[in-house]
Amino acid sequence: EFAKSKSISQQRQYLPIYSVREELLKVVRENQVIVVVGETGSGKTTQLTQYLHEDGYTNSSIIGCTQPRRVAAMSVAKRVSEEMETELGDKVGYAIRFEDVTSPNTIIKYMTDGVLLRETLKDSDLDKYRVIIMDEAHERSLSTDVLFGILKKVVARRRDFKLIVTSATLNAKKFSDFFGGVPTFHIPGRTFHVNILYSKTPCEDYVEAAVKQAMTIHITSAPGDILIFMTGQDEIEAACYALAERMEQLITSTSKAVPKLLILPIYSQLPADLQAKIFQKAEDGARKCIVATNIAETSLTVDGIYYVIDTGYGKMKVYNSRMGMDALQMFPVSRAAADQRAGRAGRTGPGTCYRLFTESAYQNELLPNPVPEIQRTNLGNVVLLLKSLKIENLLDFDFMDPPPQENILNSMYQLWVLGALNNVGSLTEIGWKMVEFPLDPPLAKMLLMGEQLECINEVLTIVSMLSVPSVFFRPKDRAEESDAAREKFFVPESDHLTLLNVYQQWKANQYRGDWCNDHFLHLKGLRKAREVRSQLLDILKSLKIPLTSCGMEWDVVRKAICSAYFHNAARLKGVGEYVNCRNGMPCHLHPSSALYGLGYTPDYVVYHELVLTTKEYMQCVTAVEPHWLAELGPMFFSVKESDTSMLEHKKKQKEEKTAMEEEME
Ligand code: ADP
Ligand code: MG
Repeated sequence: EFAKSKSISQQRQYLPIYSVREELLKVVRENQVIVVVGETGSGKTTQLTQYLHEDGYTNSSIIGCTQPRRVAAMSVAKRVSEEMETELGDKVGYAIRFEDVTSPNTIIKYMTDGVLLRETLKDSDLDKYRVIIMDEAHERSLSTDVLFGILKKVVARRRDFKLIVTSATLNAKKFSDFFGGVPTFHIPGRTFHVNILYSKTPCEDYVEAAVKQAMTIHITSAPGDILIFMTGQDEIEAACYALAERMEQLITSTSKAVPKLLILPIYSQLPADLQAKIFQKAEDGARKCIVATNIAETSLTVDGIYYVIDTGYGKMKVYNSRMGMDALQMFPVSRAAADQRAGRAGRTGPGTCYRLFTESAYQNELLPNPVPEIQRTNLGNVVLLLKSLKIENLLDFDFMDPPPQENILNSMYQLWVLGALNNVGSLTEIGWKMVEFPLDPPLAKMLLMGEQLECINEVLTIVSMLSVPSVFFRPKDRAEESDAAREKFFVPESDHLTLLNVYQQWKANQYRGDWCNDHFLHLKGLRKAREVRSQLLDILKSLKIPLTSCGMEWDVVRKAICSAYFHNAARLKGVGEYVNCRNGMPCHLHPSSALYGLGYTPDYVVYHELVLTTKEYMQCVTAVEPHWLAELGPMFFSVKESDTSMLEHKKKQKEEKTAMEEEME
């Protein structure tokens, strides 16, 4: 135990930030707001909070530290609780949406910026905090950017309050200027040279290229761990699978001893225990190969990386004004991000970065910096939140970089369509209620429609299931079996109702884990949904909304679903092919949808989101009646006369058919 704690304190003293601890604390004492700049891994996130604690800032109050990513908030809180030798959730805790691991003892609280933003709704002066560290501000997440404007006011109102903004890159001047030219503190860096190698030609299949490169390094290069940057979970899984396969082939095809390779994926939806593995030392000298999203760019630092393989791509949420929605899209990374990625190879010693793109692409095609999220995503939540903070004219809000006016107007329009804003742009009664839920506006609307239509029990389950990663488990080697298991849950009119069905059956089977295994369902995901459900239920109770149920009358539930997705309503155009009712954008039914079970494709559907892969696929789809859209929604639907009459016609045909069949019997 002693040896362990000693090594942790030695590790702490080895970090670059330690050498400037006293100066840093002095600058904090003398200023209300400061900007701290330092290389990734210099100790900003794990040490700053502890230094402030050691300097007395937690005597009668607490320190909050925001992170743009959930994974970072959890992982860093765990690390700091270990360094401080306390249980996670005791003195050191974290809070992310739907998960609060803090207690009355907590003095250092890591949280996502979204959580802090919601806290400002209840306590606009953030009185509970003595210090807020806005960490990773350079990421410019949507919530961070809104917090900038809100915290600037808190700083002006509370003289006892301190704000520290940290940034990995040299974006510092902008932050300092925003707060009126506050001091910037630089942590001296300690990095090694990284040799950068480019592809000679643009690469066609970068997953394959990355796997090949990693294998080459593993077989021919000196010891040192490998870090590969990919865009998302699917690619990461494919790469890990391919790497494992290559290793196997190598072992069976040679009589020589093959050095071990430990393949470790990391992305935000990966369960926490698997995430933690990237920090552990590999056993018996194996080489680690970490396959990551841009989460490993700045949020998480792993020591011992000597080789970085950069595909040059990342995924970003982008508001597509033509589609009127956000879509996760693949983008070439910015030059700043590429340099940040390369830097990961030079933390422990001189390293190498393999860029799977050409030098000319780097020079001529990549943007110098990433576009802040506030300028590229849907602002529905932000608009709701700011309106509830009585900021009537959003264009007056103190944004560091204001979002395009078109985005604000589009988001307001969507909120108006949902009934959250009235004709003059103020919050309606429904709008005020929607703010209470930590949900995207459409899901909050679905819940409140569930209240009106007296099926809130069912809608609550659907909303909870939509708030967790997919619960369907689909191992590559048992794809057919798992698809068959999934089909058994299908409610043919609706993927949403299918989710409801899954949850209800799980409940009927006493929430058992072995039942989940038998049916190819993720127990963890379902448990998470159950937790989310109970938290949303608490909010409903606090609003005195009774838990009504429609039993098995699920058409009512479909109506509630319909009311949430007017912006995502689509009309049939061909087999499995739809067009968005509002803007005519094509959208396709995904082969995994329950609606294939209907045997025909319904004329009108609504969908949860559009996923852009090889085509624009609708994800989570429900068949709806055209008159619901006309009845519940605004009048932009071109539900043609002919469509309704066609429906009548079909119904008549069906009736005639059954009458005929009866007669024949
Ligand atoms: P910065 O915020 O400046 O990028 P951090 O404070 O996150 O730096 O990291 C400081 C050091 O702590 C790094 O060397 C990193 O490897 C280590 N570290 C951070 N989180 C963990 C963890 N969960 N487990 C083990 N080591 C960690
Ligand atoms: Mg950090």
